[in-house]
Amino acid sequence: MTSASQEKKHRKAKALKSSSRRPAKELCSECGLCDTYYIHYVKEACAFLNQQIADLEKTTHGRSRDLDNQDDWYFGVHQDMMAARNKKPIEGAQWTGIVSTIACEMLDRGIVEGVVCVQNTQEDRFQPMPVIARTPEEVLTAKVNKPTLSPNLSVLEEIEQSGMKRLLVIGVGCQIQALRAVEKELGLEKLYVLGTPCVDNVTREGLQKFLETTSKSPDTIVHYEFMQDFRVHFKHEDGSIEKVPFFGLNTKKLKDVFAPSCLSCFDYVNSLADLVVGYMGAPFGWQWIVTRNDTGKEMLDLVRDRLDTQDVFSKGDRKKAVQQSIPAYEAGVTLPMWAAKLMGVVIEKVGPKGLEYARFSIDSHFTRNYLYVQRTHPEKLEAHVPEYAKRIVGQYELPEV
Ligand code: FAD
Repeated sequence: MTSASQEKKHRKAKALKSSSRRPAKELCSECGLCDTYYIHYVKEACAFLNQQIADLEKTTHGRSRDLDNQDDWYFGVHQDMMAARNKKPIEGAQWTGIVSTIACEMLDRGIVEGVVCVQNTQEDRFQPMPVIARTPEEVLTAKVNKPTLSPNLSVLEEIEQSGMKRLLVIGVGCQIQALRAVEKELGLEKLYVLGTPCVDNVTREGLQKFLETTSKSPDTIVHYEFMQDFRVHFKHEDGSIEKVPFFGLNTKKLKDVFAPSCLSCFDYVNSLADLVVGYMGAPFGWQWIVTRNDTGKEMLDLVRDRLDTQDVFSKGDRKKAVQQSIPAYEAGVTLPMWAAKLMGVVIEKVGPKGLEYARFSIDSHFTRNYLYVQRTHPEKLEAHVPEYAKRIVGQYELPEV
């Protein structure tokens, strides 16, 4: 089939109404694909209907993960990893604003004509509003996480109709998997993908419950992050930081807060992005950068002289802590706050650091998610869980389901 006739074919498809049930049903992560005529490809493209990370890695990076290399299991195909921070941090960014800096630079230099990113609505700072930014100012308006499921791909029709040929998309794993699956249908000359890791995302209502259950002042929070010091840091409007130890979270109440898609996700590290910017493999206060391929390197090179950098390192042993956390999470154990704080202090001193902290977080989430899929969708387990994730989970003893 020619690309012209393919184009015609998907244009005949109709976006779903916002009230319609999604093809992935409760596992839908609201990536936005089904809000466009690209719903035509949903059976193949949806991360929850057709997990195909290894195949898409081959197309995107030239190879899939080397299953004999444990770094590949955890961090995906990569050329390089480092810790970095903006010499001049962008105020109000999630971390130091490396994502926004790269996107602004690509627009400024005319490398791309537009950037898919997520602003928030005027009424609600956490309600995502995907846009195609055409100026650095519009990119900067999208800084900081909207910690909610965000339909980034809902702008795909607009891209095709705008006639843009060179585009940067910023997004999380499930969005990027669907994007890669339809990439060749978008009529672009060059697509750049800047990813962030992503875990434990929520619907807007779920976010409210999380904030109300966990923070002393839910209405004044401007951003939060699960930090490497084993605490959630809530930043409030007045600049104050409230810290709540992970071990003090009300796991029983919060169990149903996370979206079922996120409880079924094994693409924490955004395997299909060209460049990934997170924090969890870096020392506290630094960002963690994973360059997956030459396109990612090209993007990072644009801003290298604006960054302080250091090598990544790995310290400690996560395995005992992960193994112990499995039955505790299953039982919904919540420690009294004094004990949670004490445990936080101890584990911060002796716990895993650098890449070992990233492995701790990946192991904890993959074991939890494996049990979730086994329990809720046993028929999907075999095909949905990628081989690298099966190997990660296989290092631990899991309870009978
Ligand atoms: P900024 O310059 O502030 O830019 C942030 C960019 O993120 C913006 O361009 C915006 O378009 C985009 N964005 C915001 N919200 C969303 C969304 N909901 N969906 C898609 N794109 C969005 N990193 C880790 O290392 N470990 C984690 O566990 C982890 N969990 C995360 C969970 C969520 C829900 C999200 C959205 C991100 C997570 N990250 C995680 C990434 C990390 O928090 C930062 O986003 C990243 O380090 C970039 O920081 P920055 O200061 O460079 O970004």
